[in-house]
Amino acid sequence: MLRTHTCGELRISDVQKVVTICGWVQRIRNLGGMTFIDIRDRYGVTQVVIDEKSSNELHSIVEQLGREFVVQVRGEVVERTSKNPKNPTGEVELRTSNITILNQSELPPFTIEDDTDGGDELRMRYRYLDLRRNPVKNALMLRHTMAQEVRRYLCNKGFLEVETPFLIKSTPEGARDFVVPSRLHHGQFYALPQSPQTFKQLLMVAGFDRYFQLVRCFRDEDLRADRQPEFTQIDCEMSFVERDDILDVFEGMARHLFHTVKGVEFDAPFRRMTYHEAMSLYGTDKPDLRFGMSFKDIGAQLKGKGFSVVDNAEYVGGICARGCASYTRKQLDELTDFVKRPQVGASGLVYIRYNDDGTLKSSVDKFYSADDLMLVAKVFEAKPGDLMLILAGKRNKTLPALSELRLEMGNRLGLRPKNQFAPLWVVDFPLLEWDEELQRFFAMHHPFTSPHPDDIPLFQSNPAAIRANAYDMVINGVEVGGGSIRISNRELQQTMFNTLGFSDDEAEKQFGFLLNAFRYGAPPHGGIAFGFDRLCSLFGGSDSIRDYIAFPKNNAGRDVMIDSPSSISQQQLDELNIIIKE
Ligand code: ASP
Repeated sequence: MLRTHTCGELRISDVQKVVTICGWVQRIRNLGGMTFIDIRDRYGVTQVVIDEKSSNELHSIVEQLGREFVVQVRGEVVERTSKNPKNPTGEVELRTSNITILNQSELPPFTIEDDTDGGDELRMRYRYLDLRRNPVKNALMLRHTMAQEVRRYLCNKGFLEVETPFLIKSTPEGARDFVVPSRLHHGQFYALPQSPQTFKQLLMVAGFDRYFQLVRCFRDEDLRADRQPEFTQIDCEMSFVERDDILDVFEGMARHLFHTVKGVEFDAPFRRMTYHEAMSLYGTDKPDLRFGMSFKDIGAQLKGKGFSVVDNAEYVGGICARGCASYTRKQLDELTDFVKRPQVGASGLVYIRYNDDGTLKSSVDKFYSADDLMLVAKVFEAKPGDLMLILAGKRNKTLPALSELRLEMGNRLGLRPKNQFAPLWVVDFPLLEWDEELQRFFAMHHPFTSPHPDDIPLFQSNPAAIRANAYDMVINGVEVGGGSIRISNRELQQTMFNTLGFSDDEAEKQFGFLLNAFRYGAPPHGGIAFGFDRLCSLFGGSDSIRDYIAFPKNNAGRDVMIDSPSSISQQQLDELNIIIKE
């Protein structure tokens, strides 16, 4: 080894030892003849001191040094006169007579400090320098710990980690596939897996019983904020289980992670909420339960008084913001602008203030008497000082808009602290989603999801009403994981494909391998997958999954460091028999 100790290791008990450390020059300070150099490596920072009386040779080396030079320093550990309690090595310094420059560095394009002057794009281009910074390094260390704890927990529960292929077959469901042309089979393509879904099911048919994999998945989606075209899942599957067995095991995994990584415990079992309950109380299938402010349907109280917006609305509902009756005109205008943003999509906002003196004042006093408003206040269980915010319109537009408004109020009132966690399970999703434009059903989760056993007859009469035996784990308004009990019966799987508009032939062509496997004794099985990057960012208290990926793509799906995607040579194109259209 080129060193005896790391830069994070030396303590007061090491005083008088002669040691060697290696690392990068973080900072050089020259104070009246004494020179102090901070040397950094992954483990920490150690202060090196060169005093006036040192040899000329040493001084001339020190003069050559600059930020990010790689050095080897030999010297004696001494107690510092002015100690730095913030640094674990801050009680000592290394008095050196010997510095070797192992490598030089050009001036880095941004400062490698916790708070850097480097913009996003620049840091991504020089990600290897960005990764030297503590916040980024710590994020990846957290990711490492989480991965280890996931493995520890699942291995203890008897899960086997099995790798599944990356070069697979393009299938028409779900997101768009990334495809890879085959050189050996002209005109044919592999697809990169959107998830190992069918493979993990085949492993259950194979009798593996409990499978998991920390696995990369690829989806060629239009990149919304904070999506990555490749991301990591904790992918799991179990045999001979029912829904609640899976919820138990993976609630256990979440608890284990919270306990070991964050020291957070949950006394009560995670709340379980049906999809319909989540939609009608919070307007979303991933409610943030760090705070209340659930929706109240007040159509019955407000309709029929001549206010056409309300009278003609399919849904009239609102939230009650405690203690916000004192909101100014300006604040209310801001909220109105907020709900009218295209991303939120409401046409306007109605408010009712419950004044401290017990009177009620609304933005639509013209249509409603004090008694009418009092009836609404009763539904909200409002008290003097509260502010009721109401939206009206089509149900499927208004519920999500009200959800956005609720989250906005949660933010404004500081009700969404990053260090507080509110996990729940959302269950009983609809199995199918109707696409108006394409006039066909899509699987809400994926086509292998089992319907609720009681609902199977509805395939004939009312497919839209079939409940799926599916579940999501939601934490703080983020869907961290989702899965389902699978169809394990060939006929039912065929019915599902038919309902999704596949002919028997097409189903055979696309998913014949799975349907065939079901001929040979498929066990009842089910599983779940967690978005690992997202889980890490949630644990780390960041909104960005990029911080938890060593080499992420930017928002346009580009890796600006290696400059990808990029063109390939004519020779490569020829080998693949591909012509690029102008
Ligand atoms: N494969 C599914 C997904 O990626 C998860 C699952 O059903 O296990 O969303």
